[in-house]
Amino acid sequence: MLDFFFGLFSHDLAIDLGTANTLVYVSGKGIAIREPSVVARHKKTKKILAIGSEAKRMVGKTPSQIEAFRPLKDGVIADFDGTLAMLAHYISLVHEDKQFIVPTIPRPKVVVGIPSGVTEVERRAVQDAALSAGARAAFLIEEPMAAALGAKLPIDEAKGNMVIDFGGGTTEIAVISLGGIVLNKSLRIAGDEMDEAIISFVRLKHSLLLGVASAENVKMTIGSISFSPREEKYAVVRGRDLESGLPKSVKLSSSEVREAIAPVVNQIIEKINETVEEIPPELIGDVLEQGIALSGGGAQLLGIDKVIAEATRMPVWVVDDPLTCVVRGAALVLENDKLLEKVRVTGGLIK
Ligand code: ADP
Ligand code: MG
Repeated sequence: MLDFFFGLFSHDLAIDLGTANTLVYVSGKGIAIREPSVVARHKKTKKILAIGSEAKRMVGKTPSQIEAFRPLKDGVIADFDGTLAMLAHYISLVHEDKQFIVPTIPRPKVVVGIPSGVTEVERRAVQDAALSAGARAAFLIEEPMAAALGAKLPIDEAKGNMVIDFGGGTTEIAVISLGGIVLNKSLRIAGDEMDEAIISFVRLKHSLLLGVASAENVKMTIGSISFSPREEKYAVVRGRDLESGLPKSVKLSSSEVREAIAPVVNQIIEKINETVEEIPPELIGDVLEQGIALSGGGAQLLGIDKVIAEATRMPVWVVDDPLTCVVRGAALVLENDKLLEKVRVTGGLIK
């Protein structure tokens, strides 16, 4: 009853707490926030100076007394205070939005998507963070379940659904049936490792020191993983020459980026194949029929679907708008009590 009362006045939230990006869905409104998961803070006083894109712009450029960092790393909460500040900031942002008629009841119900590999302690930490940030109830949903829901897979049926979510810090591979996770692997290798691989490649081959943002940018603009000479693209990157210490530019090609990230992609594919081998025989046929759904920012890497399809001999498809898939799935759970109850019972949701 109380829940119903609060529900009338507050705007409930679904949050995708990603290692790279945080997305917030506001009930009845849609996706209201899409920001990098970055926090800038004064090292000594611990005062939060900026959150989101403003903080991301500071990465690698901060004076010595300021740190700009990602509070979530490799799919876990690396910095609790930073995560709390981020959650509190977004929850309050939504409630201070002048468009809302009753902006003063800041007690939303919150569903947060978290990587499935997090430990019990880390789970509690996320929940505590949401509650201390002002939520009246906080539910956690495992990312693969949210991704499967966002991809509109028929998760309730006695059918095998396979989904892979490629994020910045983690790759989540899961098989879902009857509303529960049957099989799940969480790999702490994803987009960030590709950026690191590009940095080391450029350092070794061109003796150029590249920043993380430039490496990520190159990956997103000219990166591809399947070879096609017609798709060869080039990008000029700037960094510091390792020998002279002076600024230098280098023209990189798609082939070079592919060569740089190949070892990372191979590690991910190895894990996918391992998972495929473990799919219960009764579900293999379903996965073959439906294909493997790819979500997350990494699903946008050109050719990734083709390479996985070749390696697994399964059809592979990229979901619509892969970057919002998890938050859309969490939003479905937020707005549908039956679904919330179901996912909760089957272990897809942790309270
Ligand atoms: P997370 O869930 O960890 O926050 P996201 O799903 O938001 O991650 O995806 C972010 C990752 O996707 C980053 O590593 C980013 O570089 C990568 N990414 C985004 N767009 C592309 C693209 N076009 N090609 C390759 N990688 C991309
Ligand atoms: Mg994600």
